[in-house]
Amino acid sequence: MLKNIKPISISNLITKASHQRIETSRRVFFLNLIVYILIAGAELVIGTADHSTALIADGQNNLTGIVSVTALIVGLTFSKRPSDDFHLEGHWQFESLAVFLAGLGMFLVGLVCVWEGITQTFGFLAGHYTAPLKGQAAYMAAISGVTMLSLCAFNHFIARKTQSSSLAASARDFLSDALTSTSTMLAIIGASLFRIHWIDPVAALLLGCFIIWNGCQILSTSAEKLSNGFSPKLRTDIIDKILTVSGVMDVTFVDGRYSGNNIIIEAEITLANDDSLTKSYRICKSIEQILQASFPVLYCCIQVKPAPKSASAQPQAIIWKPF
Ligand SMILES: [Zn+2]
Repeated sequence: MLKNIKPISISNLITKASHQRIETSRRVFFLNLIVYILIAGAELVIGTADHSTALIADGQNNLTGIVSVTALIVGLTFSKRPSDDFHLEGHWQFESLAVFLAGLGMFLVGLVCVWEGITQTFGFLAGHYTAPLKGQAAYMAAISGVTMLSLCAFNHFIARKTQSSSLAASARDFLSDALTSTSTMLAIIGASLFRIHWIDPVAALLLGCFIIWNGCQILSTSAEKLSNGFSPKLRTDIIDKILTVSGVMDVTFVDGRYSGNNIIIEAEITLANDDSLTKSYRICKSIEQILQASFPVLYCCIQVKPAPKSASAQPQAIIWKPF
């Protein structure tokens, strides 16, 4: 019965490495969550006490960070689950789904930011601007900016080390948060010290555009993975690797797709006409091992095609499936 058979041989090594990567990412995200709660809380309290709309707006922006980090933590928690009857390959795609949602959140925050920038600019042109603010709000914005920037660098570093797409996305998120806080600080200083009031609306407009661009980058990378897109360069690299395996005469088809950060490869190779079934299977297994040494390949589905002996010979295909 199909129910009792494990239909695909998923690499235990890759699964273990993925679990470790997800665990590291999750720990970083819990740290991010604590920082977001502290910074957003302090900004909202000080902003309300100081009547600083700019600082309150920055605090609200960091509040949306809490939502996106929570979405990433939930996504990673789901993606760690082992495979079941419904998800034979495992639940790795939940990570891409969470990254997609975080990107969508960023995109919406950017839109709100642009909208506020536009209304503020019109308000400024009409002669209304917010009253000069006290210095305490600027200090808080500076603290927030520095904290966000250091967390951005930290997330970026860990993301590079672990190749985690969710951490890379959150590093982008922190960069826009850091810039938001920095421009809030500049706007507060500019308004209170130099009485330059146009900084705030212009900064909000520029930042909104930057956040939208950043959100779109996250959206497009995760949407590529979710829609089974695969880099042509990586495909060529995989073909080159397969061709190094002895016995492989040609590679007629290769496609890959992502399951979270892991890759699943489908390929068709040409082997010598008189190769036995055992030899063909051995070649397929070596291909899988060689690919797994260079890429995070969860499993391969390889179809074997015999090289045509003569024009009249009918090619027979042996469909190879790992078990
Ligand atoms: Zn499931």
